[in-house]
Amino acid sequence: MERRKFVKSVGVGAAALYLGDKAAAGANLNNSFSEESSRGLIFPALPYAYDALEPYIDARTMEIHYDRHHRTYYNNLVNAIKGTPLESMTIENILKNISGQTDTIRNNGGGYYNHILYWNNLAKGPSSPSSDLKKALESAFGSFDKFKEVFSNSAKTRFGSGWAWLYLTADKKLATGSTPNQDNTIMDISLVKGVPLLTIDVWEHAYYLKYQNKRADYIEAFWNVVNWEEVDKRYEQAL
Ligand code: MN
Repeated sequence: MERRKFVKSVGVGAAALYLGDKAAAGANLNNSFSEESSRGLIFPALPYAYDALEPYIDARTMEIHYDRHHRTYYNNLVNAIKGTPLESMTIENILKNISGQTDTIRNNGGGYYNHILYWNNLAKGPSSPSSDLKKALESAFGSFDKFKEVFSNSAKTRFGSGWAWLYLTADKKLATGSTPNQDNTIMDISLVKGVPLLTIDVWEHAYYLKYQNKRADYIEAFWNVVNWEEVDKRYEQAL
């Protein structure tokens, strides 16, 4: 499989994050980015260069965020599940039943998964949603701009660290909300639940170097680098 397709499938596929056949996966994954895997969980390559989202998200932030923060969640998760039955589960199935797990697995499992979604729902812009998704957003929120406003408010008002989401509920409705820390909308303990379609990381490590305390400026910049093609794909799959 070609790298970009693989990385995209990791971001959206229900079972795609588990690669049972490590050797086969390794054979398919060769490009300039490093790739690591421990049993089923892989640490996927960033789908673009560190500076691809400049000036909206700066290269230094991307490098530290991906290569230190995200990698650390991955390493901690791998260590936490080593030798347990979780090792043979998909990350999504682990998260869907997270209420029975430790905080270490909850925090690092969420951190591992959320960042994959986030990297893949960003791209050098501009792009726009498909007409189907645009219509659905207009019908759910009143207008596309209103959706952006509601989503942005979720991101702005999340106290401390966390994530904001556009997600599809079990009854197939579009909704927005936010989660604390590294929680997400597929966790059974989450107050906002559904299939994640679009997410923004509002931990300070996602924006502080460039935007300092101005989270709202980072959120505004985020709209310039949303990968709507990816969001469309998640929406179609979720329906
Ligand atoms: Mn982060």
